[in-house]
Amino acid sequence: MLDYHVHLFSHDDIAYDEQVTLSAIAQLCSVAKKRNLTEIAITEHLFRFKEAKHFFTKMTEEVSDTQAADFMRDYYDFHATLSLEHYIHILTEAKRRGFPVAIGIEMDFIPGQMDEVNSFLSSFPFDVVLGSVHFIKGHMFDVLDSDLQVSKWNTEGAEKVFRDYLVLLEELMLSGTANVLAHVDLVKVMGRRPSEAALHDFENELVDLVTRKLVTVGEENKENVPPVIGRTVVELSSAGWRKPIGAQYPSSFILKKLFDSGLGITLASDAHEPMSIGYRFNDLWRLAEEIGYKSLARFSDRSGYPYSINKGKI
Ligand SMILES: [Zn+2]
Ligand SMILES: [Zn+2]
Repeated sequence: MLDYHVHLFSHDDIAYDEQVTLSAIAQLCSVAKKRNLTEIAITEHLFRFKEAKHFFTKMTEEVSDTQAADFMRDYYDFHATLSLEHYIHILTEAKRRGFPVAIGIEMDFIPGQMDEVNSFLSSFPFDVVLGSVHFIKGHMFDVLDSDLQVSKWNTEGAEKVFRDYLVLLEELMLSGTANVLAHVDLVKVMGRRPSEAALHDFENELVDLVTRKLVTVGEENKENVPPVIGRTVVELSSAGWRKPIGAQYPSSFILKKLFDSGLGITLASDAHEPMSIGYRFNDLWRLAEEIGYKSLARFSDRSGYPYSINKGKI
């Protein structure tokens, strides 16, 4: 089994380069081994890195609500403390020494700057880039411990938040940057939902745009696409089981439709602390297997390859 979404730091902690060490990676690998994981992708947030801070500064400057902009500025000041060069150096060395890690990053979607972000990311030797939508303009909708962010759910209304989310998800896919679409229906995180009918439309539209866009990405890059796994897949994540929504990402309805369209998956814990690595992967894989999946995607040098799972063996 593989866990393709593992962070080094909790959101509550300031991260220091001195903590990004081979022994820290070894500790994560030893937890992974105990949980029968044969490889983990380390995927720290793009906004953790000083070299990428200018993208977030520019995005913040474009937010007109001053309260929201202040919140974002403080958030990125707090988080953007690491050297990406050092992170890459340690992970490259860990791989060279045979640690079962893939060099990854969670690329938080930045509207209007994806060409720059694309060329920035391609200057580093990533195995896998996760693509995530975490903010809708000034609304960091998955920050659950902020009254300001939670109150925006009330002023905007769930139907609008869900609709706006889809627009950004489409832009993220069109950018072609992500190898893995992370927690693709994350907008449900809070448990706030639109009406049943609107939710149904949301799920169908999401499936439609993911399958349409991903198939297009695959076709454009046909020569580079290895068998079975395209350049981009979707993750099946257990992180939602630890959030107010209490459900995996994506919903079974979405997952089934993605499977029917031939899209590959990764499994993801989205661990922000070692104890969450491989979180409830038995349940997660059972769900995937029931739908028909027999393999996962693994990535090397940003190309996807199938990783077969023996039936019943987690
Ligand atoms: Zn995320
Ligand atoms: Zn994450």
